[in-house]
Amino acid sequence: MQYHEQFDVIVVGGGHAGTEAATAAARMGLNTLLLTHNIDTLGHMSCNPAIGGIGKGHLVKEVDALGGIMARAIDLGGIQFRTLNSSKGPAVRATRAQADRLLYKAVVRQTLENYPNLKIFQQACDDLIMDGDRVAGVVTQSGIRISGKTVVLTVGTFLNGLIHIGMENYKGGRAGDPPSIALAQRLRELPLRIDRLKTGTPPRIDARTVDFSVMQQQHGDDPRPVFSFIGDASQHPRQVPCYVTHTNEQTHEVIRNNLDRSPMYAGVIEGIGPRYCPSIEDKITRFADKTAHQIFVEPEGLTTHELYPNGISTSLPFDVQVQIVRSIRGFENAHITRPGYAIEYDFFDPRDLKANMESKCIANLFFAGQINGTTGYEEAAAQGLMAGLNAGLRAQGKEAWHPRRDQAYMGVMMDDLSTLGTREPYRMFTSRAEYRLLLREDNADLRLTAVGRELGLVDDERWSKFNAKMEQVELERQRMRSTWIHPQHPSLEAVNALVNTPLTREQSLEELLRRPEVTYDALMAIEGVGPALEDTAAADQVEIQIKYAGYIERQHDEVEKQLRNENTLLPLDMNYRDVNGLSNEVIAKLSDARPQTIGQASRISGITPAAISILLVHLKKHG
Ligand code: FAD
Repeated sequence: MQYHEQFDVIVVGGGHAGTEAATAAARMGLNTLLLTHNIDTLGHMSCNPAIGGIGKGHLVKEVDALGGIMARAIDLGGIQFRTLNSSKGPAVRATRAQADRLLYKAVVRQTLENYPNLKIFQQACDDLIMDGDRVAGVVTQSGIRISGKTVVLTVGTFLNGLIHIGMENYKGGRAGDPPSIALAQRLRELPLRIDRLKTGTPPRIDARTVDFSVMQQQHGDDPRPVFSFIGDASQHPRQVPCYVTHTNEQTHEVIRNNLDRSPMYAGVIEGIGPRYCPSIEDKITRFADKTAHQIFVEPEGLTTHELYPNGISTSLPFDVQVQIVRSIRGFENAHITRPGYAIEYDFFDPRDLKANMESKCIANLFFAGQINGTTGYEEAAAQGLMAGLNAGLRAQGKEAWHPRRDQAYMGVMMDDLSTLGTREPYRMFTSRAEYRLLLREDNADLRLTAVGRELGLVDDERWSKFNAKMEQVELERQRMRSTWIHPQHPSLEAVNALVNTPLTREQSLEELLRRPEVTYDALMAIEGVGPALEDTAAADQVEIQIKYAGYIERQHDEVEKQLRNENTLLPLDMNYRDVNGLSNEVIAKLSDARPQTIGQASRISGITPAAISILLVHLKKHG
């Protein structure tokens, strides 16, 4: 049966990638369909109830700077907000918020249901409609054929999903949801490289059976950080504390004694798990000398007693899970509400994607989220937005756009995935970016909002708030540059009390702020120098831009040098055997990865600067 309407963009999957992909395309004015298993699970958090963290918070801010929905949803659904690394430099500071799982989901659903140009349809996608080597739509489980100019696949951990609890396993997309078997089979018939990964989640616990008095309490920050550039702390719901406890020798003993019942150690699970989010059995084995591991006891929401014990993800059998949990201080009488489990699923080698998330071998088909080998809501959201944007651009017949590595963590991730691929679930870290000082959370809007506006992703409200902020920053920077504290200045004494070495000549406020011991707030608190900008985000921007000007400029110079060759295009059908002087290893790697640009080629491990020079010479001769 043919569906009665045609779409510009069809997004399959209503998780974190799918919801950003669908809203991005819809924001661009395109007729968009979000096709998902179950409308009630739109925006569902499969694992930990939290958004952000180091590297991940950066992605959320970038998604927000481009008009995405994640930051706004967590501002309305967040029950504890913190800035991580707050004592370190601005490049690695990151926002993290604990979420009320239900509230977060409700905000996402409400947002989507009210989004112009977006229709939601509850059906499983079982097949793709192909027109030669391009996709032309999808077929649902009940045989409905829906035509679309472009299709974005964001089906998470659902493809051939296999859930493990001890030696028992069963098919599932995640606990409580069906797997995607028909679609997985169909995709295996297409010329795409597929492999298996695994991830896991801890058992959940009933707070009424926990003794919090023996745990350390952890509150959010005051003043409270805000995620969205257009949000404010008054939108946050009631805030609650988290708690910290630890595993101990007894816990480790229980795990060691039962490793033969772990599907991972018994060889039942083949997929590789996330290195930076290991299961508790992994931690005990890998760090055998450690006598305790930290557990963050996180509330799942304001209207539930369920707790998420962050740090004891496991696929051991349920009876062992009970012993593990009850060996932990404060959990002696704990009741488990949901067992922990591991899930194995299909993912697609992201080297088969162009840097705009489109398949290299099937035109108009885009991939985003966990199916590209990543892990995490934020990584999924960022890819989703990019895939939705590029599917939208394709539907409009426009050129693709994606940020470069020096413009956004999104650019770093898309480049890493499409050039290097991944053997284990990929998550974002600040260490993945070579231009960290340029890619800060605080300036994500400066980096992306203007280009987002041009692409049709940024609405009038965000655009006018952004411009107002930029104007404030610019005016304040001008004032700092042109206001001088001279030896007769009435505020001289107060200024000298603030600085390490007293002023011997007149200095501008900008020069004074560059001194390490001077902060913007302290300087502005001096009568006759202030007042400080009321908008703290604008004030932070002024301070960071002035204090780090030298370093920032140096990174810009490095970027410029790199850019000269970065964007030189490599033909996708290039035969590397025809290039004189390349080693067999380099030929194999380039033929396998099929980089689109010299920049991408240079980041493939084993591709030497010498090989890049040979390629450049070849292109000059034959290009
Ligand atoms: P998902 O959020 O999984 O969304 C997929 C969507 O696609 C769902 O709405 C689903 O219903 C829909 N769908 C699937 N198949 C079809 C179909 N055929 N037709 C229509 N709709 C379909 N991340 C971490 O960062 N750390 C962790 O420790 C961690 N642990 C995890 C543990 C478990 C058990 C699971 C399941 C996930 C875990 N994650 C973890 C990963 C995190 O949940 C994902 O990275 C994130 O949800 C990926 O977002 P996504 O949009 O790609 O996919």
